[in-house]
Amino acid sequence: MNSSGARSVLMILVFPAIAALSVYFGLLAVLEYATARSDRIASQRQTHLAETLVGKVQASVAHDQESATVWDDAVLNVKATNIEWMRQNLGEWMHTYFRHDRAYIIAPDGEAVYAFAADEVNATKAYDQVREAIVPIAEKMRSRLRAGDNSGISDQVLSIGESAYATISDHPALISVKPIISDTGSIGQSPDQIYLHGAVRYLDGTFLSATSSEYQFDNLAFSWSAADQEGRSLAAITNSDGKTFGYFSWSPFEPGEAVARSVRPAINAVGLSVFAVLSAMGGVVRARSRKLQRSRAALEHLAGHDTLTGLANRARFTEQLAALLASSKPAQANAVLFMDLDRFKQVNDTLGHPVGDQLLVLVADRLREIFPRGIVGRLGGDEFTAVVANASSEQVARTCEEIIDGMRRPFEIDGKPIGIGVSIGVAIGRGSDVDPSELTRKADIALYNAKGAGRNRYAIFGPHMDELVQTRRELEHDLRLAIENRRGLEVHFQPVYTAPDGSLSGAEALVRWRHPARGLINPDAFIPIAEECGVINQLGDVVLEEACRAAKRWPNLEIAINASPVELRNASYALKVTTALNNHGIDPSRLEIEITENTLLDTAGDCLRNIEALRSIGVRFALDDFGTGFSSFGRLQRLAVDRIKIDKSFVDGFERETDNRAIVEAMITLARAKGLKTTAEGVETEGQRTVLRELGCDHLQGYLLSKPLTAEDFDAMMNVVEGKLNSNL
Ligand code: C2E
Ligand code: CA
Ligand code: CA
Repeated sequence: MNSSGARSVLMILVFPAIAALSVYFGLLAVLEYATARSDRIASQRQTHLAETLVGKVQASVAHDQESATVWDDAVLNVKATNIEWMRQNLGEWMHTYFRHDRAYIIAPDGEAVYAFAADEVNATKAYDQVREAIVPIAEKMRSRLRAGDNSGISDQVLSIGESAYATISDHPALISVKPIISDTGSIGQSPDQIYLHGAVRYLDGTFLSATSSEYQFDNLAFSWSAADQEGRSLAAITNSDGKTFGYFSWSPFEPGEAVARSVRPAINAVGLSVFAVLSAMGGVVRARSRKLQRSRAALEHLAGHDTLTGLANRARFTEQLAALLASSKPAQANAVLFMDLDRFKQVNDTLGHPVGDQLLVLVADRLREIFPRGIVGRLGGDEFTAVVANASSEQVARTCEEIIDGMRRPFEIDGKPIGIGVSIGVAIGRGSDVDPSELTRKADIALYNAKGAGRNRYAIFGPHMDELVQTRRELEHDLRLAIENRRGLEVHFQPVYTAPDGSLSGAEALVRWRHPARGLINPDAFIPIAEECGVINQLGDVVLEEACRAAKRWPNLEIAINASPVELRNASYALKVTTALNNHGIDPSRLEIEITENTLLDTAGDCLRNIEALRSIGVRFALDDFGTGFSSFGRLQRLAVDRIKIDKSFVDGFERETDNRAIVEAMITLARAKGLKTTAEGVETEGQRTVLRELGCDHLQGYLLSKPLTAEDFDAMMNVVEGKLNSNL
């Protein structure tokens, strides 16, 4: 089970169960305590009651007897042995009225003159059954009478009495003996003349049921011993000699237990409800906290990841790198790789951002394959980064080659293959004492070097690279200044000639930068910088201005300028050019703008609108460096241009590679079929010029004819040409 599942069980089951059980057992304990206490009190009371009851039995039987034994009539009738009277008043009546089980009238000689037993018809037998038990009591009584012992007599007790517990016909019984005496005092009797009345009350049977109902004893019983009376309350019945005769036993009245019985289900219910409520609350709390956790995790992921590719973003990457470096062993080498996609910009610019986005996702997927568990991030745009942890320089090199190979394989989007490449900058740090930002800075510098060295390369940072970076920074700074102040920028013009007759037909404006310290710098070295640091439009303004002046100066020549894709993407480019032409009063048809093939592929941007707008006023367009970019012959048809400029790499190989000649021938044939003019660049030899003429190329440009010239040199050259013409005339 994962930790979240365990937490759920805790929140929904364990905690509520503990709480519910605590409440449940707490209540039970209180209940048990209260129950035990009230039961103990109740039991004490009952035992006390039972004990008094035992005493009361004696007293009440004696009291019952006195209702008839202290009576003149009784003395007279007993002495007269009036059996019928005795039966009516001292025998059966006592049984009927007081539930005495037996009654005896004992003469002074100790024999019974009357005997009654509810369970024995034969009177003689009835006395024989009690003789043994009653005689000692009777003797005790008589000796007290003789001794004049009147103890025990009170307002309620009119005569002395003796009693004892005994077993009679297997019944536990109380035997009570009273003297039969005068109630008025009118009949005097000596102790030896007094008849005695003995009453027997069985302590089982009706006695128990009567007493039970009268005193609320449950299951009252008589038992001979205290054994086997578990769970029952006992009260001992003791004879006057201190010997235990037997016990009354009963089910103790447990009011507490009764209450507990009725309360226990309620407590169970309370325990269960507490559990249910807490469990539900736990569930709710758990669900809430889980939801919270999920959104927090999502937020954390968002904060740390690039939404497009799902790779770590710059912040997260820096964090991970710092953690890795901090935990590195002293000898451990870690390599940071900075990757920049080659030609991604073109794909993005030409095929649109959605395709660009898809491409980035595919690139991320390939990187993930190469670094299944490693640190991989996207820093933004087409810049990716990765870390090769604890690796030798051979491993780093292998990884870089793997990445380059991986990125070189075409990506497929919407069924179309898209080819890009990658440049990689590597910086290697050893041990834990490495500053992550310093390492990434070095990787970035190495990347810049890799790109400068050509595409699909990797470069490992070395100290010399710092200088290059420094140089580039200075160049950037100086170029900005030069463009802002229009100082140091020069525009040279390379003459363009018609191929058949070799006459001068135009000039291509080519920018140069005269650096105060470094001398003349070629555009290949600074145009990319101008593009990157956003000053290319101002640079284009300078060239446009100079080109317009040149056009004014040489009214018979066509003037060509080069336009960067960045410039053409600017929505106001067409307006800018139109304004410049107007300002200088130049016929738009004398201006040709050279663009690259990649510019034309941007169907989504403003490039085509700019081109259409300018063509509509007569400006012409040429496709520069034809054959090196994306364009295919099939595409030429749709290109909104008037000319193709065959790249010098094709011209250059004429003598060595026969293929190039065939290619150039095809280019020219095709261009003609489409009604496009052709210019061959980089014509350096007579041989090249001859072939190009034969192939039907329209215009020629190259060092063979002329290098790019300053405007002044161009003027001088024209004068020479004119001079030649004039002298020929
Ligand atoms: P590009 O448009 O293809 O210009 C032709 C380049 O070939 C020029 O280099 C030129 O000096 C060189 N070249 C001419 N004839 C020969 C030859 O016979 N042999 C050889 N090997 N090279 C020859 P440059 O002036 O250094 O310009 C380089 C590139 O810079 C240009 O290539 C163009 O793409 C760009 N560029 C130049 N000026 C501008 C500008 O004003 N704006 C923009 N956006 N790009 C410019
Ligand atoms: Ca050009
Ligand atoms: Ca060119």
